[in-house]
Amino acid sequence: MPDVFADLVGQDEAVVELRRAAAAAAAVLRAGAAALVNAGPAGGHGSAADEAGTGVDPSAGMTHAWIFTGPPGSGRSVAARAFAAALQCVHGTGCGECPGCHTTMGATNADVRMVVPEGLSIGVGEMRALVLRAASTPSGGRWQVVVIEDADRLTEAAGNALLKAIEEPPPRTVFLLCAPSTHPDDISVTIRSRCRVVPLRQPPAAAVAEVLVRRDGIAPDVAQWAASAAQGHVGRARRLARDPEARKRREAVLAVPRRLTGVGAAFDAASALIEAAEAEAEASVTEADTTERAALETALGAGGTGRGAAGALRGAAGQLKELEKRQKSRATRAQRDALDRALVDLAGFYRDALTMALRAPVAPVHTDTAALAGAGAQKWDADGALRRLEAVLACRAAIEANVKPRIAVEAMMLALWKG
Ligand SMILES: [Zn+2]
Repeated sequence: MPDVFADLVGQDEAVVELRRAAAAAAAVLRAGAAALVNAGPAGGHGSAADEAGTGVDPSAGMTHAWIFTGPPGSGRSVAARAFAAALQCVHGTGCGECPGCHTTMGATNADVRMVVPEGLSIGVGEMRALVLRAASTPSGGRWQVVVIEDADRLTEAAGNALLKAIEEPPPRTVFLLCAPSTHPDDISVTIRSRCRVVPLRQPPAAAVAEVLVRRDGIAPDVAQWAASAAQGHVGRARRLARDPEARKRREAVLAVPRRLTGVGAAFDAASALIEAAEAEAEASVTEADTTERAALETALGAGGTGRGAAGALRGAAGQLKELEKRQKSRATRAQRDALDRALVDLAGFYRDALTMALRAPVAPVHTDTAALAGAGAQKWDADGALRRLEAVLACRAAIEANVKPRIAVEAMMLALWKG
């Protein structure tokens, strides 16, 4: 039976550290140590608690605030969830079999909260409520664990609310943050200084393929192709291997380079890319939107009559408006994510052209368009391929910096056509 860390692909060093921390956390519980005092980022040697007088500090290796960093798809949230399970594991190891492991991995553990931002940012209200709940005594007798995915999307005010909780942590509360990096743009310097960082790396394609075969039962040749095409992004590799729609969207994106035959074609390609991202995003959020709205309407007793109904209706209108705002923000995020995936695929193509022009001894990202990239390499040379790759990367950066996606994509297409 695989333990909770089995799905953390190609992250051996991080797994060793997390196992050690989970064991230390279990020792803290055994020793009945009341608090993780001053367990700073340097390694948590601040606690004075001794385990049963052995002279061993049970909290060494454990601390109450962590940041998991790494590129998208490297498994930040997978690592955080696995660590949360190991903390709740009755054996303190993340065995994968006990109720603590099971409930955490199945997202039903009452003492583990996963915060998944649906919009562009996590607001202060949400964070305050979370911090308050996280301060309560763990009902399972072990730890209260709060996992914040995409902690880089915290608003400044929300970050401050979180910082306060991290600075004066309740004795049994553990915060697990996930962010692309520890750059100040992603995570505030003050929060960073209170956390231990677990850097994850982009898993090698072979490791991704291995997990697709073992866990998802995907045929080895398909798994290998998908792992390479997804450029180390485990979730994306699984989608490509399983979902024909995802494969179709990828093919459409990789058809862009050969379609750029003139100015008009460049603008057409930009429109197509934007619209495909919108369609993909809409498909991913529509179902959740409808379910949420129905649930809220039921909760508000829509259609109710009698005394107080008018007042309730006014309150209800406000709540529905709030929900619509949240859903709009989530749709925007989904569109940007879809567009970014397309740009990453496109960058992979020009990277292949560049490595071929340089005759670099590296495997292509997209094996199925390698011939096309080879033709590009001959036509453009290394300089031209590099300029095109840079145009794609500049487009990603511009969108990240809030340039309107359509404008950024049009500029990119023109640059790709002109070279
Ligand atoms: Zn367990």
